[in-house]
Amino acid sequence: MNYPSKLIEEAVIEISKLPGIGKKSALRIALHLLKRDEKQTLMLSEALVQMRTKTGFCKQCHNISDTDICLICHSPRRDSSLLCLVEDTRDVLAIENTSQYNGLYHILGGIISPLSGIGPNDLNIQSLLNRLEQNHEIKEIILALSPTMEGDTTAFYLQKKLKPFSIKISTIARGIPIGGDLEYADEVTLGRSILSRISYE
Ligand SMILES: [Zn+2]
Repeated sequence: MNYPSKLIEEAVIEISKLPGIGKKSALRIALHLLKRDEKQTLMLSEALVQMRTKTGFCKQCHNISDTDICLICHSPRRDSSLLCLVEDTRDVLAIENTSQYNGLYHILGGIISPLSGIGPNDLNIQSLLNRLEQNHEIKEIILALSPTMEGDTTAFYLQKKLKPFSIKISTIARGIPIGGDLEYADEVTLGRSILSRISYE
């Protein structure tokens, strides 16, 4: 592609490095940023700089946070006897959006994946064990990991590591999506939903 300006070309190259954005969309975004009010574009770049340089991680749960301890860990309204283990911050956002969970979180920062060279030591597992040693309030740990082979490997490893603490360990239910047709569910999902059936109330 020929660009009318070297500066636009540089901006397009940087924008196109973002996920899901190709060169064409990047050019459209760059031209839009150039065309709109200068103040607004500067506000966007300032917001990005602030986010990138000032945002850190919660020292307790490893969630993204502007403060040492995040708002969830800090809140007196959360149930501190429940701890939900998730792979990353996106999972916290997804669970928070359901408004069905009021406990705390611990973010592993990934999942055990021998193929990608990610082992237990690359995840926030030691900090989880330290947290449990120091905090005896936690009564139940919910494993909310993806229903994949890596998710299962990670859950198996964690369950072994957590055993000495004698805390109740549960996993999120797996089954047929609400509004889904049984005949269209894949065999693994249908099989698992039969195995983890619940009593009818
Ligand atoms: Zn936190």
